[in-house]
Amino acid sequence: MIIAVDGSAASGKGTLAKRLALHFDLAHLDTGSLYRALGLHLLKSGVTPEKTEENLAAAAVESLDLGLANSPEIRTDAVASMASVIATMPAVRSAFTALQRDFATKPPHGNGAVLDGRDIGSVILPDADFKFFIDADMEVRADRRTRELQAKGQSVMFRDVLEDMRDRDRRDRERAKAPLRVTDDAFVIDTSMMDADRVFTLAVDQIAKSSE
Ligand code: C5P
Repeated sequence: MIIAVDGSAASGKGTLAKRLALHFDLAHLDTGSLYRALGLHLLKSGVTPEKTEENLAAAAVESLDLGLANSPEIRTDAVASMASVIATMPAVRSAFTALQRDFATKPPHGNGAVLDGRDIGSVILPDADFKFFIDADMEVRADRRTRELQAKGQSVMFRDVLEDMRDRDRRDRERAKAPLRVTDDAFVIDTSMMDADRVFTLAVDQIAKSSE
């Protein structure tokens, strides 16, 4: 079983993907963590978002320490912004494509895979068995992200998180290659007024219905 979960930042797509993985015994890949890991690596090498060269960023994928994808250091707004800048670069996206497809077709454990990101159902795995598109109001998402970062001890303000999220959303939706978009075969869930349990129940019901 292969499940694609796409959606905007802080929409709840990651939480849903993790719960689906546990429920159906699937391997889970948070593809945003790949772009964040590359973003962190470049920031650490002294590259700024304004001065990132596409060929250098794409070449850095080859030697990227994928362990960085599990580092708490990638969970900052600065890394998220850098990730969204390099994610507009076609060569960078191509450099990550095979890794994501391999994970889905040869999952490291379990009965299949669930991948969450921005272009999983549209580009990476267009033949996924189930596709979800998760979204929520921008202000609700910025509020969630602010609380999440504050709970981790980061001193961030709602206003700044909202502004970063607006910029990131715009880059994700307007980029030429693999923009964030709803595919015709995706089940859309707006999580603005829902808790994680409700989102999970809706998704599992939808999988049961479309498997009948
Ligand atoms: O999902 P997350 O917010 O952690 O992703 C960080 C950034 O990586 C996103 O804003 C987006 O620009 C980029 N991304 C992407 N395609 C994916 C996953 C993430 O462009 N499949």
